[in-house]
Amino acid sequence: MRFFSTRGGEAVGLIDAVMRGLAPDGGLYVPDALPRIEPSDVRGESLAEIAAEVLAPFFAGSPLEAELEAIAKDALDFPVPLKPLDGGAGKLAVLELFHGPTAAFKDVGARFLAALMERALPLVPDERKGPLTILVATSGDTGGAVAAAFHGRRGIRVAVLYPKGQVSPRQQHQLTCWGGNVRAFEVAGSFDDCQAMVKAAFVDAELNRRHRLTAANSINLGRLLPQVAYHAAASLWHHRRHGTTVGSIVPTGNLGNGLACLWAKAIGMPIREVVLAVNANRTIPDFLATGNWQPRPSVQTLASAMDVGNPSNMERLRHLIPDFAELRAAVEAYPVEDEQIREQIAKDARRYGEIWCPHTATGFWVYDHLPEARRSLPWIVCATAHPAKFDTIVEPIVGRRVEVPPALAELLERETSATPIAPELGALAAELDRWK
Ligand SMILES: *Cc1c(COP(=O)(O)O)cnc(C)c1O
Repeated sequence: MRFFSTRGGEAVGLIDAVMRGLAPDGGLYVPDALPRIEPSDVRGESLAEIAAEVLAPFFAGSPLEAELEAIAKDALDFPVPLKPLDGGAGKLAVLELFHGPTAAFKDVGARFLAALMERALPLVPDERKGPLTILVATSGDTGGAVAAAFHGRRGIRVAVLYPKGQVSPRQQHQLTCWGGNVRAFEVAGSFDDCQAMVKAAFVDAELNRRHRLTAANSINLGRLLPQVAYHAAASLWHHRRHGTTVGSIVPTGNLGNGLACLWAKAIGMPIREVVLAVNANRTIPDFLATGNWQPRPSVQTLASAMDVGNPSNMERLRHLIPDFAELRAAVEAYPVEDEQIREQIAKDARRYGEIWCPHTATGFWVYDHLPEARRSLPWIVCATAHPAKFDTIVEPIVGRRVEVPPALAELLERETSATPIAPELGALAAELDRWK
C-alpha cells in the first residue's frame, strides 16, 4: 500500500509516512484507497491478533510487512475489555482502553508507533550517526504515553518538554520517572512556549543535522492504525457475541479516535454508525451543523485532553468523505459542557457503579441523550482514560476514593528527575548536544 498527503503530492511507503509524521506539504498521510475486509474472514480473538489481520493490507508491500504480527503483539500486550453494562443483553457496553502503562488510550497508539519505529529504524538509510531523537511538547497526557512507549527502545531517545507548574502532580510523575533513553525538560514557560521550542527545533537545519529529530504526535499514521484495530476488534467481538452491528460513541478532541472509528467502518467492520462526543470545544459539531469550518482557540474544560479548537484529523475526514451532505449523514457530533460531565459522572456511579474519567463521561452523556428509539439499539461507548488519572476532579463528585490501577501505581513509585531549562531553543539545543 502507498500513502499520499491529504493535499496531494507523491506517494510514499508506510515507513516514510510513519518516520515523517506530517507530509512535507503540511498534509496528513492517508492510504491511496482503504481496503475492504469481510468481517467473517477475520479469525483472530485478541486485539493483537485482530490488529495483525485488519492492518495487514496497510502493511502490504512494506519491508515491515513480515513484522506486523510482532509489532502488534509487542505493542498491544495489555487487556482492552469490552465490558457489558446491561448484564450481557448486548445493548450497551464500555470499551475500556485505559489498561496500558499510563492508564489512557494514548498508550495504544504510542506503543504501536514505538514498536513500529524501532523496527523501521535499521531500514532507514541515514548518513548521520547516532540515535533518532523524538521531541514532544506536552500539556500532560501525550508526553507520558510517548515516554512510556519509547522507554528502553533501541536507537531512539525521547526529550519531553513540559511547562513548569502547569501539569498535574500525577501527570508530572509520568513524564519524569523514566531515565535511560527518556529525558524530561521542565520549561520555565507555558505549553505554548514548549510547543514553539519544538517547532523551532524542527526547522533548524543545523540542529536536525546533528540530531535526527522526529515527532510522535497524534497525527502520525503509526498511532492512528492501531486505533482502527481496537474499533474493529470491539465491533467484531460484539458481532460474534450478539450477531448484530453496533453503534460506536467516541469521545474525541483532535478527531484521532473518531476518525479511526470511521476508518474501521469504511473498511467493512460491523459498525452501524459513529457518534462523536466532544467537550465545550464545539468546532466539529458546529461544522456539521452549518457547513462552515471555523477553527478557534481552545477553551479549558474538565475533559482537558479533548481541549482542541482546530482538530487536525478533520483533514483526513474530509478526504474520506469529501461531499458535505454525505459527511453529515455519516457522522454526528454533540458537545458536552463541564456541568453535564459532572452530572454524568455522578449519575453513572449510582446507576452502573462505574466511575468515568471526564472524557469518557462525555460519551455517556451523549448516549443518555439519544432519542429513545435509537438508544434501544446496541451501542459501545469508548472509555479513554482511567478515572484515577483525574482523581482531583472525580473523587469530589462521587464522594469516594478511586483506586489506582496497578500499572499506574507502579509507575508512581518510581523516582523522578527533570532538567529545568529556559523557554528558548538555544537552551534545548545545548542540552541535546550535551546528552550522551
Ligand atoms: C487524547 C485523549 C482524547 C482525545 O483523543 P483524540 O485523538 O483527540 O480523539 C480523549 N480522552 C483522553 C483521555 C485522551 O488522552
